[in-house]
Amino acid sequence: MDIIEQFKNNKIVQQELKKIHLLSQKLSRKVRIMEVCGTHTMQIAKFGIRRLLPQNIELVSGPGCPVCVTPTEYINKAIFLLRKYNVVVVTFSDLFRVPTTDSSLEIEKSNGYDVEIVYAPTEIFDIVKKYPKRDIVFLSIGFETTMPSIAVVVKEVYRQKLERVYFLLGNKFFLTALEMLIIKSRNFLAPAINSSSTIDGFILPGHLSSIVGEKVYQWIPNRYKLSGVISGFEPVDIVRGIRLVIEQILNCDPRIINEYSRVVKPEGNTQAQKILNEVFCSTSGTWRGLGTIPDSGAKFTDLYSYLDIEKNFYIEKISTQENKECQCAEVLIGQKKPFDCKLFGKICTPENPVGACMVSSEGSCAAYYKYELL
Ligand code: SF4
Repeated sequence: MDIIEQFKNNKIVQQELKKIHLLSQKLSRKVRIMEVCGTHTMQIAKFGIRRLLPQNIELVSGPGCPVCVTPTEYINKAIFLLRKYNVVVVTFSDLFRVPTTDSSLEIEKSNGYDVEIVYAPTEIFDIVKKYPKRDIVFLSIGFETTMPSIAVVVKEVYRQKLERVYFLLGNKFFLTALEMLIIKSRNFLAPAINSSSTIDGFILPGHLSSIVGEKVYQWIPNRYKLSGVISGFEPVDIVRGIRLVIEQILNCDPRIINEYSRVVKPEGNTQAQKILNEVFCSTSGTWRGLGTIPDSGAKFTDLYSYLDIEKNFYIEKISTQENKECQCAEVLIGQKKPFDCKLFGKICTPENPVGACMVSSEGSCAAYYKYELL
């Protein structure tokens, strides 16, 4: 059996599930485990893992989808740049369909503005060739996972002395927000602490951890006495991660365990970290669901700050209203599930999304719609 097959093996999944069911009988209360990575959310839904767990173990999704946590204000800025300055906007595909109050990048493109979809940041160099006389704005979103690859492109734009290429910065540092999530969850749920509603542990993100490493999570058990398991994305990885979190809870021994050690090294990818830190540094960041958090947003370091579109073009402050009926903000912090939103599956569907969580390929609502509707 090759290594990937081992992690897809149904027999091992069943063995892990059996252990989880046995352990669950020793729990004195319901346990809530949050998977904070959008890819985990999608995989958990795809493999039907939620339904295979005992009733006293609940999985909730967190703010691990970069498109979902990007506030409407960011997309409105891109739309303003299209309409006011007729720039070429370059975006990842998920952001393209996210609705604002009265538009989306998709609608703007259908209205004749130039919005180009890319699947990798390096494709911006093809766009530069396609529009040699236009101002080009790359919509730069994503966590520590994608920031190194964007940083490589930024350095190349600098090296080639390309003119008229800019970045609208919406990147975010995930770890800072994770701590705010814990604090907010405890505040929201203060009356219910030690009952069935707190977050008891985390399935930590595999991709992001491959960049940042495992050591950076140590504050989770140290400061908050919570467990965390860095997991891969195959079924065995995920159920094993859940079992390891439950074992820690039962043993009152919160720790960080790296279940994904075949990819995640203790120190992470130091080369990627170096490039990231050369190009980006922290500033305050605004998250859908979590609000504005100091040091959770990204800006360019001094050398590259001239590439920030907001330093070159005036962008009008547009008052932005999120759709009041959309519950994305609560879904992103594990306070609600997609099923709790009255628009879910009726008015809001992947074909006609009302909120970002239904658009993104990593969004909780999209995952529930695709795999958890019975
Ligand atoms: S179902 Fe749609 S409207 Fe409801 S929370 Fe999800 S994205 Fe928002």
